[in-house]
Amino acid sequence: MLGHFGVGKTSLVRRYVDAAFDEDYLVTLGVQVKKKDVTVDDQNVSLIIWDVEGNRSVSQTRQSYLVGSSAFVYVIDLSRPETFEFLNDNLEFITSNYPDVPIQVFGNKVDLIDDDNLDEYLEKNKLTSALVTSAKNGQNVALGFENLAIQLL
Ligand code: GDP
Ligand code: MG
Repeated sequence: MLGHFGVGKTSLVRRYVDAAFDEDYLVTLGVQVKKKDVTVDDQNVSLIIWDVEGNRSVSQTRQSYLVGSSAFVYVIDLSRPETFEFLNDNLEFITSNYPDVPIQVFGNKVDLIDDDNLDEYLEKNKLTSALVTSAKNGQNVALGFENLAIQLL
């Protein structure tokens, strides 16, 4: 799980693994590792999810947290443009250092964006490849993690 501070990385993992949500913000220090067993495409998969502390730039993230990852989730907060201002630079850093590792962008906190203008908003901000999610109401959270699991299989 990568992305700026406060975008919802910990909350997405909590929603997916524990089916819960907290309004409180507790900053993640270092890395928190959680496991979720799922069945996708009739196969049992153990997802080991590394919730890495937030950073403005992936290049500042301790590379030992990234080495060996099977997939990356890059989380942005749709309600805070500064969290996706340099999205392409961050994605390029990941793909150049970890080629062949799938990445999915989660456009989180979609519950804070006005439904009527969502498509226009995503297009204007070049975010159409992001999967919109909400750790608060659960929208697309399991789908996002499990699509990655399917790609890995
Ligand atoms: P992290 O720093 O990326 O791990 O972010 P957190 O998961 O700690 O979340 C930061 C803050 O955003 C917390 O106050 C959460 O309650 C809130 N938050 C996280 N996800 C969502 C969401 O999908 N919708 C809304 N409205 N708030 C969220
Ligand atoms: Mg966190």
